[in-house]
This record gives sequence, structure tokens and C-alpha cells, in this order.
Amino acid sequence: MSVSAAELQRATYREISLYAPNREPCAVDLSDNTNLWGVPPAAERAVRQAAGAAVTRYPALYAGELKRALAVYVGAGTANVVTGCGSDDVLDSAIRAFAEPGEAIAFPDPSFAMIPIFARMNGAMPVAVPLAADYGVDADALLATGAKLTYVCSPNNPTGTSAARAAIKRVVDHAAGVVLIDEAYAEFARASLVDLALSSDRVLVVRTMSKAFGLAGLRVGYAVGAPALIAEVEKSRGPYKVSAIAERAAVAALTEDLVWVREHVDLAITFRERLANELRRMGLVPLPSAANFVLLPLPSAPAVAQAMRDAGVAVRPFAALPGIGDALRISVGPWEMMERCLAALRQAT
Ligand code: PMP
Repeated sequence: MSVSAAELQRATYREISLYAPNREPCAVDLSDNTNLWGVPPAAERAVRQAAGAAVTRYPALYAGELKRALAVYVGAGTANVVTGCGSDDVLDSAIRAFAEPGEAIAFPDPSFAMIPIFARMNGAMPVAVPLAADYGVDADALLATGAKLTYVCSPNNPTGTSAARAAIKRVVDHAAGVVLIDEAYAEFARASLVDLALSSDRVLVVRTMSKAFGLAGLRVGYAVGAPALIAEVEKSRGPYKVSAIAERAAVAALTEDLVWVREHVDLAITFRERLANELRRMGLVPLPSAANFVLLPLPSAPAVAQAMRDAGVAVRPFAALPGIGDALRISVGPWEMMERCLAALRQAT
């Protein structure tokens, strides 16, 4: 007797749709906020040289060498760091570790699109809370949810805006449970709340090597926090989540490529401001960004993005973002790419 997938499916999975942004190749791809200058040189050498045991044997259980290198990078102890297969994996594992099925997870809206999906994947209940009028974190509204776990993101994706430290501190001081602070773009803000994670027993700062470090394809993310919280995320995450090649390349980047990373962060910041100026000269009003992308509110953004894609430039369209409306998210890269983008945008609007 045959059964339908709907009968076999876990009930809470009915509302989950596959995360599937348009990944069709495009001549200039400004759609995913990765490092458009490429791979840091020592990391690239480490990937090219990896063979033998790095391929045939299992990697380290919990990526101990990578933890040591990350601890030095963020100024923490090794016991303060957990790694994962991208920060996606770390966020997913943290949600599973700290929220029972059915419990609420509060998050700002708009913010990182995967958070409500990870919440549902773990049987938890996502509770969206509109961003404050200045696109910062609305601490009181987040706290009013009484959520078991609260997520905030600064600089925030997709707005690019930074949240005030005081607002996040207020959430941390009064939250009912754990607070996840997503700092995927912290390098481009030249600011971090890692110190809050190291002085609190309920905060995890989640970061990634996919953006400033240019290693998105290797999938390396991490969180920083009190050892007792870190141990719970590690249980939830499970062993062998960072491949041996990814670990070697990430350690090489952290120990040998920091000058390269900082130089390219500086370029991204310079070109971000230059791009925003050019957009304003076109009469447009981009949101102030502390990340390596700019959010541009624009009516009919999905149609504009399609026209730009047809002209060889991929940007990320959003439709009807709460409090913002339609918008394009444009990753910042080498200035030639920004010129191609501006030309395609002019043509499409
Ligand atoms: N958090 C935010 C805010 C992001 O924008 C992204 C990437 N789009 C991630 C987490 C996940 O990044 P990764 O899994 O590559 O570390």
C-alpha cells in the first residue's frame, strides 16, 4: 500500500520550504556577500597541498587546531570556541541545544532568512519581531516574547545596519534564555561583541570564515562563549563536522593570511562607501551599511534584478521586506565589478 509524503512527513516540516535562492552562474555575481577578491593565499596553498591522510582518514573530532587558531584570533581561550560546517551549522546546533521542541525563538525581521527555517527544522516556534524604526534591534519587543532563545544579527543581513551595543546588552541582561549574536559581517564593522560573550553565561557570538576570510566553499563557522554553553553546542553539533582540508585551510588563513584579509576588508569598506555615494548620485537611498553589502530599497526590485542578471550582473532581490519594501542587496567587491553593477542598474531602471 502506498503512502503519500505528507503522511510520512514530520508535521512541523510542512511549513519548511527548501532554501533556494537563484544560483544560476552569472558573469558578475554580487548575490551572496562572499569575498569577491578570492581566496587568501596561504589558505589556497593549504587546499592545493592537502592529500593522502587528509582525504582518506577522518578529520579531528572537534577541530582542535582550528579552535586554537580561532581562540587567538578573537582573544579567547580554546574552551570558549566551537566550530561547525559553516555558521549555519553552528546556529542550527545552538538552536537544537537550547530550545526544546515547541519553545519560541525570537528574531528580528527582516534578518537572516535561515533562522525561522532552522527553528522549524528543530521543532521550535519562530517568532518574528520587527526591527526598530532605525533598523536597529527592538530590545523591548524581543524581550516581550519571553522566548527561550533570542537571535540578533549585527551587522544585520539583509539591511547591513549595525545594532546599538546598548540595545543588545539590554536583551542579554533581561532575556529568559540564551542569546545568539550573529556577527557574520563583524570584520566589516570593525566592531564586535565577543567581549559580551566572554563575560556572560548566556551569550554566544556566532561568526564565519565565509565572508571576510573568503572560504565560503569550505564551510567553516564558529561560536564564542562560556565553556559550559560551548560544550552544549558541541554535543548538539556532533563530531567530524569540519573536514580536514577545511581545517587546514582555515588554520593557514588565521595564522598566515591576516594581512591579506585586513587589506581586503579595508577595500570592501572603501568601495562600500563609494558605491553608496554613486547610488545616492542616482537619486537612490541605500541603507547605511556596516557590512560588505549594501541594501537598496527599490520598487519592483525582483524585476530589476532579473534585468540586471540578463545584463550579466547578479544581485539579490527581496520583495516586500517589512518596513522597507522591495529591495536589492548588492555585495561589494573590486571596483570594476561595482561599475558593471551600476551600469546594469542604470540600464534596468
Ligand atoms: N549568518 C548570516 C547573517 C549570514 O548572512 C550568513 C550567510 N549568508 C550566515 C550566517 C551563514 O554563513 P556560513 O554558513 O557560510 O558561515
